[in-house]
Amino acid sequence: MLANYSKKFFLNNLSTKSYFSNQLLARVMSTTVNAAAEREKTVVENLKDVLKTVEEFKTHPSARLVAVSKYMPAEDISYAMKTGQIHFGESYAAELEEKSKNLPSNIAWHFIGHLQTNKCKIVAKIPNLFAVETIESEKKADALNKACVNVGRKDKLRVYVQINTSGEESKSGCEPEETYKVCKHIKENCPALELYGLMTIGMKDRDAANNPDFKKIVELKEDIKSRLELDHFEASFGMSGDYIEALKLGSDNVRVGSAIFGPRRIKQ
Ligand SMILES: *Cc1c(COP(=O)(O)O)cnc(C)c1O
Repeated sequence: MLANYSKKFFLNNLSTKSYFSNQLLARVMSTTVNAAAEREKTVVENLKDVLKTVEEFKTHPSARLVAVSKYMPAEDISYAMKTGQIHFGESYAAELEEKSKNLPSNIAWHFIGHLQTNKCKIVAKIPNLFAVETIESEKKADALNKACVNVGRKDKLRVYVQINTSGEESKSGCEPEETYKVCKHIKENCPALELYGLMTIGMKDRDAANNPDFKKIVELKEDIKSRLELDHFEASFGMSGDYIEALKLGSDNVRVGSAIFGPRRIKQ
């Protein structure tokens, strides 16, 4: 895609800017094509490694990898799809909206960023949105439920309740003690939503093997699953630095970005 775009750009400019010798044009184009091929190779190799690792360490047969593509160009997602990957995670409503319009409709998108009430409609409109992983209150659940109804969404939208397991002020999510109440509210009062699981980010640089955030979310998952008598209820945790430990501790959904796409230019 990048290569095509560049080709068009250079060809369009060729007529007006005759100082572009054909030889120079050929060199510039082949550099662009090589860079794209190189990038594709990197993304595909990284992703294959991560997929293999997920297979090796997952404890639940259905555990899945979400490739977190925020800030990365649409081309990167196209490359990643060559491995068969279809679950991708995005953190910004506008970026997700844009990408979802330009990329194949078989992608299963996960919204994993902070969801502002005024952005609920944008995400609810995306037909191939698999889940919103960041519902932190009854109020937000109501807003998203209403948005789904208003845009005439066909199927129920899966949601995870985000928990602030580490108690850090900078982190979003509901308090662990409120989690049951928020989940119960969704199950009983939000018919356009499907209560699908819990999610946490957790504190940076925890002792990965004994991560208290991971233990907390697993404990809450088991407790709420049985109290609300849910057939299917997941725990989404684990990122590039700790997804192996997360899988070992029972994560159903790991969200891995930089291990696949490399460092992001803008720090979150
Ligand atoms: C960015 C992000 C990730 C991926 O982080 P990496 O460390 O790059 O794997 C996972 N989850 C959430 C909520 C994120 O915002």
